Amino acid sequence: MNPTKNIIIAIDGYSSTGKSTLAKHIAREMGYVYVDTGAMYRAVTYYAMINGFIDENHFDKKGLITSLSEIDLSFEFNKKLGYAEIFLNGENVEPFIRSMNVSNRVSQVAAVPEVRQKLVEHQQKMALKKGIVMDGRDIGTVVFPEAELKIFMTASAEQRAKRRHKEMVDNGVDIDYQSVLENVMSRDHLDTTRTDSPLVKAADAIEIDNSEMNVDETYALAMSYVKEKFLEI
Ligand code: C5P
Repeated sequence: MNPTKNIIIAIDGYSSTGKSTLAKHIAREMGYVYVDTGAMYRAVTYYAMINGFIDENHFDKKGLITSLSEIDLSFEFNKKLGYAEIFLNGENVEPFIRSMNVSNRVSQVAAVPEVRQKLVEHQQKMALKKGIVMDGRDIGTVVFPEAELKIFMTASAEQRAKRRHKEMVDNGVDIDYQSVLENVMSRDHLDTTRTDSPLVKAADAIEIDNSEMNVDETYALAMSYVKEKFLEI
């Protein structure tokens, strides 16, 4: 597909619904930029961890907020992987941000309004020329309420935990299914109940429940919505 008009595609939804796989695939097909906003919240969480602002027992929100100006996030396209990797103050932090330690703390960090404000501004700047697929929790509601196409992804918690567990085990991580399920459910709770920008389906988003769909089926369905949109505009 090579449409003449560039649009913004916002993909929101619950954790481990395959948002990033879908977003990458659509971006590749369209020749668009893909931005993983979850990686941005994860990188800030990693920063908070290595600087002692958060651990299992405490969260020094004030300390993190004061240090936010020291955090510089950027993306660099990795040709081999076919997508952009995230850099924290010049260091590629991709290898560190998907760990269970980060996953267990990221939703607390993402609930801090000052953190959100900084990252949302950054996200909006990245889309000035449109031609972008961005995935996250608040893209269609807060970051780009005017996005031309909004997709909201959901699936049962058990199915999502099963997929995430398999992915982690395939990557050599020694983890049991129950811990992954607990993390998925705890993040769902924190993400949907926080005061600032909770995870909620935008009124004009198209919902895809892929509990019973594989990656290819999810992609085919989403692309049918993309094509429909281009017929409309
Ligand atoms: O997408 P991913 O699962 O990597 O996101 C990690 C966490 O970052 C989410 O559980 C959520 O707490 C936070 N997040 C957010 N807003 C976004 C993207 C991610 O609050 N736009």
